[in-house]
Amino acid sequence: MSDQSLLKLFPNDFIKFLKKEKISRFYFVYDKKSKKVKASHPVLTEIAQFIEDDNRDFEEHEGVFVQLSSKYDTLLGAFIHRTNRGQAAGGVRYWSYENMENYIRDGLRLAKGMTHKNALAGLWWGGGKGVMAHNPNVDKNDPAVREFLYKEYGKFMTSIKGCYVTAEDVGTSVEDMGNIFTNTRFTTCIPHSVGGSGNPSIPTARGVVAGMEAAMEAAMHYLNGETLEGKTIAVQGLGHVAIPTINLLFEKNVGKIIACDIFPEAVENAKSEFSGKNFRAYLVDNNDNSILSEECDILAPCATGAVLNKNTIPSIKAKIICGAANNQLEDPMNDDTRLFEKGIIYVPDFLTNRMGIVNCADEQAGYVNDDPIIERHLSTDWEYSIHQTTLKVLEKSKAENTPPGKVAIRIADKLSRENNPIYGHRSQLVINSLVESGWER
Ligand code: NAD
Repeated sequence: MSDQSLLKLFPNDFIKFLKKEKISRFYFVYDKKSKKVKASHPVLTEIAQFIEDDNRDFEEHEGVFVQLSSKYDTLLGAFIHRTNRGQAAGGVRYWSYENMENYIRDGLRLAKGMTHKNALAGLWWGGGKGVMAHNPNVDKNDPAVREFLYKEYGKFMTSIKGCYVTAEDVGTSVEDMGNIFTNTRFTTCIPHSVGGSGNPSIPTARGVVAGMEAAMEAAMHYLNGETLEGKTIAVQGLGHVAIPTINLLFEKNVGKIIACDIFPEAVENAKSEFSGKNFRAYLVDNNDNSILSEECDILAPCATGAVLNKNTIPSIKAKIICGAANNQLEDPMNDDTRLFEKGIIYVPDFLTNRMGIVNCADEQAGYVNDDPIIERHLSTDWEYSIHQTTLKVLEKSKAENTPPGKVAIRIADKLSRENNPIYGHRSQLVINSLVESGWER
């Protein structure tokens, strides 16, 4: 095993290596002065070097902390990108990885994405992501396994002292967040029963529609666009976000909605919910992306990621793409350009689907009905609202002849470097203190 690159090891084999080396916690931290990534253990230098040399997913991430669970051989990780605006925040993903390179890359990429989403939303939060590598030898649907692992994740969160605040994500439920919450205060998206904000799908749907309306307004100047009234919208997926999105769109008097799902029940339920409206829904199999090439004005991907790619983009007929799904572009560097060159207005997903994290962001500050702190994101006038930000991004995109995803990232990047007005760059100090106090021991 020692001759093989650690990065190519399957997580379970990497865990065997960790056990042989008697390592149960490790980290990689970035030293801004030397521009070096430092590993907690010399035997992990290869991974630190890989991170430092990478310029696709790594971008001066402040730290990566990983702990091996005491049961079920699962890696519990926290990837922290940039924390000038505040604690790194983002969901914890419980996912399967082929090898350690994929695990590390996914964490780095997703944490950076959260920096952009949070900063663009004007939240005083940095960007981070939790990643738990699923061990195929354990049944992740077993409630006892989940309870153990998420409680353990809570202890891990407490140990890293708040430089990262976790939340719900793919593969993680509100119950799991409740289990994390038993062992740490550094989580959001906890159940209503313990003071959390609950399911964010309706605010997310409202955010998607706000993005569509702003795109129509922007399009008015250069695509003869109008309002949503009478338009045809194609929606991929009929889940928690898509259903309220469709409801809102009918309230806005759209002309027609075409939608699909891979589950017969989802299709049938939607057909009965929208009977009497100009609504058509059909069943597809997992790899069927024909919804993307429907004749429509707006396409709303509300199912899975990576659906906009070199294979699907050529047949897209919509003039605007605006949906809830995370990571819609399979290859963010090139697919954004492909859409732009085809004259399609793409509203970046991390701009329009922010309401999930926005809904969780102020849990600590209590709740009021029609919370103005949340509502301003959905208003048309607040500087950082989805509406204003979409207009700003699309106008700059046109003026600079640059795809909107790149413009949005540039704006987000600048905002993400502003220091928190109350706490400054405190999470960097937390990371420094974890290193100084020998967290890995
Ligand atoms: P969901 O699981 O409730 O709904 C997704 C639906 O898509 C399901 O009904 C599923 O069967 C369907 N689906 C999956 N693959 C499909 C395919 N190939 N073709 C057609 N349908 C397919 O999830 P959701 O909460 O509605 O979220 C939808 C997307 O938005 C996800 O990518 C999610 O990460 C993202 N998102 C959601 C929120 C939120 O508040 N729920 C916030 C931000 C981002």
